[in-house]
Amino acid sequence: MTTSLDLLRTLHDNSAACDGCGRLGTIARATRLTDPRSVARYCSVCWPGERRRRLLHLDERRAAIVAGDPDRLAAAQVEEHLESCSWLDVQDFLSQALSNGPIDPGVAAEWARAYAEWAPLMDGPIPEMIQRFIERGGLLD
Ligand SMILES: [Zn+2]
Repeated sequence: MTTSLDLLRTLHDNSAACDGCGRLGTIARATRLTDPRSVARYCSVCWPGERRRRLLHLDERRAAIVAGDPDRLAAAQVEEHLESCSWLDVQDFLSQALSNGPIDPGVAAEWARAYAEWAPLMDGPIPEMIQRFIERGGLLD
């Protein structure tokens, strides 16, 4: 069984070159869901900008699907699967979840345990917001 820790280990690739700047050592993957699939890898410097750009494309694609507009959908970028071991992604996920209303305390405690487990495999220092979330076992102000 592949765990989230196994996945995090595959995202750190010290021998892969970043598709953004060419530097060795990547922390993120963007997989285009084409046949065959194509995978782009990014370093910790390039990932925040690439992530923002790619999320905008995915938003455009989803809006085209919702609108049922075949021309707009044809012009939209192919669906992608984004994965990283960047705290930026975790922080964004948690912020969005919190903005949608209260999180079930059991779920929040599970997330806090997972983030603590992931911490040694994540890229860069843990953001204060996530550190606090872990320390409080998913309980929030
Ligand atoms: Zn790079």
